[in-house]
Amino acid sequence: MRGRLAVVVGGGAVAVRRVAGLRAAGADIVVVAPELSPSLEDQAARGFIGVRRRRYAAADLDGAWLALACTDQPEVNAAVAAEADRQRIWSVRADDGAASAAWIPAVGRTGSVTVAVNAGRDPRRAAALRDICVAAVETAAGQPERQPGGGRVSIVGGGPGDPGLVTAVGLRLLRAADVVVADRLAPAEVLAELPPQTEVIDAAKVPGGPAMRQEQINQLLVDHARSGRAVVRLKGGDPYVFGRGAEEVQACLAAGVPVEVVPGVTSAIAVPAAAGIPVTHRGLSQGFTVVSGHVSPSDPASTVNWEALAGSRTTLVLLMAVQHLPAITATLQAAGLAGDTPAACVSDGWTPRQRLLTAPLRELAVAVGNAGVTSPAVIVIGDVASFAADGAPLGDPAAQRPAQPADPARRVLVLGGARSGKSAAAERMLTGQGPVDYVATGPGPRDDDAEWAARIRAHSERRPPDWRTAETLDLERVLAAPGATAPVLVDCLSTWLARVMDDCGIWTGRSGAEEALATRLERLVTAWRKTGRTVVAVSSEVGSGVVPATASGRRFRDELGNLNARIAAECDEVWLCTAGIPRRLR
Ligand code: SAH
Repeated sequence: MRGRLAVVVGGGAVAVRRVAGLRAAGADIVVVAPELSPSLEDQAARGFIGVRRRRYAAADLDGAWLALACTDQPEVNAAVAAEADRQRIWSVRADDGAASAAWIPAVGRTGSVTVAVNAGRDPRRAAALRDICVAAVETAAGQPERQPGGGRVSIVGGGPGDPGLVTAVGLRLLRAADVVVADRLAPAEVLAELPPQTEVIDAAKVPGGPAMRQEQINQLLVDHARSGRAVVRLKGGDPYVFGRGAEEVQACLAAGVPVEVVPGVTSAIAVPAAAGIPVTHRGLSQGFTVVSGHVSPSDPASTVNWEALAGSRTTLVLLMAVQHLPAITATLQAAGLAGDTPAACVSDGWTPRQRLLTAPLRELAVAVGNAGVTSPAVIVIGDVASFAADGAPLGDPAAQRPAQPADPARRVLVLGGARSGKSAAAERMLTGQGPVDYVATGPGPRDDDAEWAARIRAHSERRPPDWRTAETLDLERVLAAPGATAPVLVDCLSTWLARVMDDCGIWTGRSGAEEALATRLERLVTAWRKTGRTVVAVSSEVGSGVVPATASGRRFRDELGNLNARIAAECDEVWLCTAGIPRRLR
């Protein structure tokens, strides 16, 4: 039909399908109908089809090679068929196959081969047989598209992991390849289905450091293509999104090797989607920014303007960002992105191991660290992240958006043994939220304890510059400070208790010491319960089972255990830290 006139009578759904087939065949198309469906109107406006906007008349078929009667009026279709017969034009009736002079086959095209199947009058069966034939052509020996002596390289985006998300073109090239050089993130199942004679090279195993490795991969592609082979470079996602695809293209061009790029479904969009997150959504996000997090914001090698991103009001999609997530989320918050911005982490998207984790921005890094999430993972930051759900379809956004109350005061207890990383974990919980009142539970300037002074110094060097340090035992007053809104970090309750027990005279057996301690503890717990400030307190975990050698040691252990339990009972969150790993208990 290429370049030959086809007349389509009717402008409805059937005509739409017929026009699509005719366009694929390259026919000249004229549609005759008083009214056209919107998609036909659009094709007419863009000049793909001619239109006669009126009822059918016999003269419409003049000069046609094929007439398609697609109206819902049998008399009109019959008239078209009769006139076509008279003029010896092939015609197809959409409403009555038996009365039709010709039938439309199920058509499939692969490379230069076209397959057309008629299966009696059963279009489903025809379509199924068509698919089988196309697949057979594609896997047949002597594969299509082979140019003898002419090796070439196809850089194919393999999508995020599901074999169904490789494009049709990519799949055809893979099946016809002599050599496939595959990335770590390329969909493994696709490789497993390749014919046995295909040589599969794991690019991750090509020797050399990262830079060397890329050079060697480039060389590998060039060498195989020069020896006349069809080479597919299979990559995860899209070759041009953090995939070094362009470097490989350049290497091929420089070597005079023919090269093509087949785009893929990028994880930047598809992995959030796997967790129900649309990267844009009307009313929530007018755009998205895809950024690599493989270097920390503070690294001189970083060229990303994180401050600008914090204010961009677009959805942020971070790739390769698991390792530097604490620094990235802190930087974004320091630059003004609200700590309660919804965020999500989707790891191993589109694979059976897919995992979703959601948390407000301020808690994301800790949550991701706690969960032991490993690469590959995509981080989404922005209101759309509140759509996150394992496999849940998109519903009414208003119903799905969690209510966002005005940041209520949180009470958090972080427990851990010595050198467990508990203080660092607590600091991370408040990093990026502006000034924090850091309470070192020391006795204040009168102290001449060198070890204590050294610890304070180490702390103040580590924390952000806008934090304020107070050395005081009067926690009750800090917690009840009128008008104070900055979060409080108490480090730590166990030293506080030790010093308070000293002050009360527990160890010297001063009279009234027990009552004084009980009053003090009661005051602290009450202040803790009533505080309007967000407060994170660090304390030592005493549940190790080691029995202190002295009676005073055992006494202190019991007192601390009780205090921890009382404080924990009044907390929104309780964490336990060990070996640097915080885990949330409540
Ligand atoms: N070209 C790829 C990206 C390569 S960079 C693409 O367009 O998708 C590698 C990063 O992509 C990973 O660190 C991770 O952030 C992301 N990624 C790729 N596949 C993923 C998957 N299946 N699940 C989660 N993240 C994935």
